[in-house]
Amino acid sequence: MGVRGLFAVSLQKSFFKQNEMQFKDLQLNKHILRAISEKGYEFPTSVQVQTIPLMLAKKDVIASAQTGTGKTAAFALPILQSLFDKQDPSKKGKKIRALVVSPTRELAIQIEESFKGYGKYTNLKTAVVFGGTSIDPQVTMLKNGVDILIATPGRLLDLHKQELVNLSFIETLVLDEADLMLDMGFIDDVKKIERLCPKSKQIALFSATMPHKVVELAKTILKNPEKIDVTPQYAAAQGINQVLYYVPKTKKMELCLHLLRNTIKGDILIFRRTKFGVDKLEKMLRKNDFSVASIHGDKTQDAREEALNRFKNKAVSILIATDVASRGLDIDHLDAVINFDIPNIPESYVHRIGRTGRAGNTGASYSFCAADEKIYIQGIQKLINISIPVMEDHPYPLDPNAKPEIYRKLGVKPKKGRKSDASKKNKKRWY
Ligand code: AMP
Repeated sequence: MGVRGLFAVSLQKSFFKQNEMQFKDLQLNKHILRAISEKGYEFPTSVQVQTIPLMLAKKDVIASAQTGTGKTAAFALPILQSLFDKQDPSKKGKKIRALVVSPTRELAIQIEESFKGYGKYTNLKTAVVFGGTSIDPQVTMLKNGVDILIATPGRLLDLHKQELVNLSFIETLVLDEADLMLDMGFIDDVKKIERLCPKSKQIALFSATMPHKVVELAKTILKNPEKIDVTPQYAAAQGINQVLYYVPKTKKMELCLHLLRNTIKGDILIFRRTKFGVDKLEKMLRKNDFSVASIHGDKTQDAREEALNRFKNKAVSILIATDVASRGLDIDHLDAVINFDIPNIPESYVHRIGRTGRAGNTGASYSFCAADEKIYIQGIQKLINISIPVMEDHPYPLDPNAKPEIYRKLGVKPKKGRKSDASKKNKKRWY
């Protein structure tokens, strides 16, 4: 039996098909229903069932939902419906009536694509603005008229300062990935943006996790919000076959190559903690004839988009990324995630592996844990409330003498060398 079979964590498609509700029961008009059906969605997800009626009723909403739960449609569909219902043809596109603030450029672009898809039969105009790229085309786009604007905070405030964007007609403000937004230091920008919109607006805040600072922000800007929680702490881990490899830091590259050659197939996203690490791994995989692209914060917007597109179009089968650059990436049919480095923030693990097993599919995650990362694994296991199955049979264990038979089986000779006292002492402890 393979790794997947052996270690399959019980699959419970908690976000999908969990109720009898259908999209047509959600008071959405025929134009939106047509677009949804073309997308192939059969049933609304849990966050959609809960959020859509509340947003249509103009309530403020605070939703604990991570990427992969269908949260984008949960706010996009009611926004499209409300704006469509209250259209004044003479003013169409002249006033921005809905604003979605997103922490990263990639996520902003993806949200725009979703709005365009769901709204393709509604004649509402959607646009996206983000930093790191020329402002001029964005200004032209805004001048041509926009109903729904998706923006990253910095660029939006830039445009506002230059009086190139008017937020005084906003009816609905969405703060997406609020936890990441605050982690990235956008708290003041977010508060400022909120103040630039009319007091009467509706606010919907979405966050994968609910740390204290997000709750505090919600308390200051939301009015009697309805709370939605579709992310029990362990839920993100369900539906994903997770495996943990204990491996010396110096052997991670070898382990990665070994698994890519023998075990892990398909479209693979590899996470590294640092930009330097991403570049190094990319070089090494290229040298070994793997088709690979990468994204991290030091790359230009164009380079990031190109890398993402090459991965999505299957020109390359491996994408290497840092956490921030990859957050919110909506990549269909991702087969596996490799945590080349164990994230030091437990929630990042949940976000990372949430890239696979999306939309109710089963995915796989492979985590490489060196001795000094064991502490992070403890935090992660506490958060997801399961003990991640350990793969002991591999050629690069932390203690080379722990499983000598595997070397015979795989025809790999363990390197001779003096074991350190620490490794002697830790024998078996890692398993
Ligand atoms: P999100 O959480 O918004 O990033 O969405 C995750 C993925 O689920 C995207 O690829 C969506 O296209 C897809 N999706 C959203 N809603 C549904 C649905 N009701 N049924 C099937 N797939 C969906």
